[in-house]
Order: sequence, then structure tokens, then C-alpha cells
Amino acid sequence: MKCDVLVAGGGPAGCVAAAGMGHELHVKVLEEHARVGEPVQCAGLVTPRVVEMASASDAVLNKIDGAYVHFPGGRIIELQGNEVKAVVVDRGEFDRRCASLARRAGAEVNTGSRVGPVERTAEGLCVRTADGDVECGALLAADGYRSGVARSLGFGQARDMVRGLEVDLRLRSEDQRKVRVFLGNDVAPGFFAWAIPCGDLTRVGLCVSREKGTPQDFLARLLEKQGWAEAERVRTYSGAIPLGHIARTYADRMLVAGDAAGMAKPISGGGLFTGMTAGKLAAETLLEGFRSGDLSGKGLSIYEKRWKAAYGKELRNSYRVRQVFVRMGDRDLDKAGVRLDNEKAKAVLATGDIDYPTALAPGLLRTCPSLLAVAPLLIFRLLWR
Ligand SMILES: Cc1cc2nc3c(=O)[nH]c(=O)nc-3n(C[C@H](O)[C@H](O)[C@H](O)COP(=O)(O)OP(=O)(O)OC[C@H]3O[C@@H](n4cnc5c(N)ncnc54)[C@H](O)[C@@H]3O)c2cc1C
Repeated sequence: MKCDVLVAGGGPAGCVAAAGMGHELHVKVLEEHARVGEPVQCAGLVTPRVVEMASASDAVLNKIDGAYVHFPGGRIIELQGNEVKAVVVDRGEFDRRCASLARRAGAEVNTGSRVGPVERTAEGLCVRTADGDVECGALLAADGYRSGVARSLGFGQARDMVRGLEVDLRLRSEDQRKVRVFLGNDVAPGFFAWAIPCGDLTRVGLCVSREKGTPQDFLARLLEKQGWAEAERVRTYSGAIPLGHIARTYADRMLVAGDAAGMAKPISGGGLFTGMTAGKLAAETLLEGFRSGDLSGKGLSIYEKRWKAAYGKELRNSYRVRQVFVRMGDRDLDKAGVRLDNEKAKAVLATGDIDYPTALAPGLLRTCPSLLAVAPLLIFRLLWR
């Protein structure tokens, strides 16, 4: 079997990439699972721009315009945006929309097909799969957080990782327009917990730093504390999010995108916007490479410049914020809560864009300079860039 580009992984990053080059190149997407989008490993909270990127408006379950932030000591801050800030998607359907885009562009999307070892040949690459060897001119590793393909090719690993667990409860949240975010080292050490309203269901989950234990115990405790332990569990999801992107995302005839490259946002763990943007830019770069006949690492290195121009600064700053956040005790979080619990700070927070969360920092510090006293190291790191 032959193709121009083999895409390892039929997730959003891989399918959006295939959709961007399928009209001109012979592209094969190989997805190891029997059905694209299954099993789901996601809370499905994204900005409207991500839904647009996948033309997936029919996968939207709910619209969100605000949040309740629960601090460890019991303080709850309510944030009200003046527009839809995020939407909740059916992640399985969302992924299948991405796969449809790829197919419509002319790419093949094959399920139940695992990408195995990759060898370099005189003409390009030879990829071992269960259905036989595939010879291709280039490979895009978009194989998600385990990223066996990218790692076996020497691409390295993300710097950090959090592990997550989530349940859909048969429980109707009173306020259907706001998510709840729970902070605290007893709730979700190294990350946060969430409750997302989806009509008659509420999606409750959390992630924890990998060295802080397993998410099961923390989730059981959260459900108990919120009085949700008896609610029927309709569905359970689990997974991990790599944070802190890999050092290099290109090589001769190869690119890496999405979770395989550790591109999720270090503050929120959201990886759809960054992964799909990288997929789009990978397609653009590979198209140019095939047109010019230059698929060398040097030629493809423009891909890394492109995704870094799109959100490299945000990932860098978010990672710094995360490094400080994981060191904050519950008392520090509560102190920050006190300082943020005023109308001016809340108005700034409510303007936030979850795809670019650190853009809020300058405005917040102007309105709330006393935040400096809570985490001087954080502020120092943010300003010293
Ligand atoms: C608990 C949890 C909640 C999350 N919530 C959100 C959220 O609300 N919003 C958000 O934006 N992000 C969220 N994320 C992160 C988001 O799910 C990922 O960042 C996103 O899925 C990355 O997309 P991707 O295409 O890079 O990888 P994936 O979606 O993981 O796709 C990779 C695909 O590759 C396949 N694969 C792997 N190895 C092989 C192989 N060898 N051969 C063939 N196929 C292979 C996998 O089966 C998978 O289908 C969450 C993650 C977790 C764990």
C-alpha cells in the first residue's frame, strides 16, 4: 500500500490535518479503535471557534456564559460573561464530524487499524500496520497522549501529565449556563475539578497531578461532599493529559501534532483548540513540502514556527502559571479568592477567553495589584519573559 501522507491517529488533530491536505495529496488516516471518537476521554468544553473549525454545530449540547469558582475554604465566586464563552460538545460526535471533514476532502479514514513501527527507506517511510506495510512520503504523528508512534521515533515526551476521571450523572444542574470549578489540594491536587451542566445530565470530573495519587479517590470524595454520590452514573470516562510540549515537533518527513506533542493548555488541560490548529498548520506545511519536493526536517521546521506563532507564547506562559499553581497551598488559593472577590476583578475574569487564559493577567494585576502578595513568584515569572 502506498500514500503520500500517513496520519497516525484519527482524533481531531489528525482528522483536521487530513481535511486540510486530502484534496491534493493521497492521505490515509489510521485509527486504532473500531469507531472514531470512542472511547471518549474528554469533558467536551470548548470555545465556539473550535466548533467552527470542525463544522460541528450539531454536536453542541449546551452553551456556557459563566462560572462558579469554589475555593477550598468555601468561598464561591460567580462570574457572568456577556456572551457565550464556551460550549459543551458530545465529544464522540465531534470527532466523527472531524473525520467526515477529512473524508469529504478525499482522505481515507480507516478504523481498527493500528500504526506500528516506522522505518526509513530510500524513497520515504515504511509503516508497519496490522493490514500490511504502508509506504508513504511523510508521516504525521497525531496519536494522542500515549503517543507510541511519536515516542518510538525519538520525539520525546511532554514535561508533565495529569490523570483524569469523569462521570456523567443523571442530575439536572439548576444553572444550565454556568460551569462549576473546584479548587484545592483535597479536591484535585495539581489541577481542578469541574461540573458541567448538560441538560438532564451533569458531567463531573477532575484531573490530578500524576504523583498525587489516583483520581478515583478524589472523585468519590467530591461526589460525596457535593451530595451527588447517589446520582445514577450514566457514563464514566478516564484519560490523561500531557502538559508542556515536546522540544521538537518536526524531523525529516515527519511532524507531530496535538496531545502527541503535549500541546494541551497547561492551565485548563484543553487540547482541542491547540491540537486542531496544529493539524491545520501541519497540513499547510506538508502541502508546501510536497509541492516543492522538500520534506527535509529543515524544510518542515516552518511548521513549528507557525504553531508557536499561533499559541506558543500562551503555552509558555500557561506552563509558568501552572508551575506556580501546583506549589500553592489551600491557604494561598483562599487568599487569592479573597482578593478576586470584588466586582472589578470579576468583571475582568468574566472577559476571559479559555483558549488564551493568560491574556487576562495584565488586566487582573492592574485591577487587583494585591494579588502580587499572594504569589510573588507567579507574578515575577509572568513579567520576566
Ligand atoms: C478527562 C479529560 C478531560 C478533557 N477535557 C477537555 C475539554 O473539555 N476541552 C478540551 O479542549 N480538551 C479536553 N481534554 C483534552 C483533549 O481530550 C485532548 O487534548 C484531545 O483529544 C487531543 O486531540 P488529539 O487529536 O491530539 O488526540 P486524541 O484525541 O487522543 O486522538 C488520538 C487518536 O490516536 C489513536 N491512536 C493512538 N495510537 C495509535 C496508533 N498507534 N495507531 C493508530 N491510532 C492510534 C487514538 O485511539 C486516538 O483516537 C480532556 C482530556 C481528558 C483526559
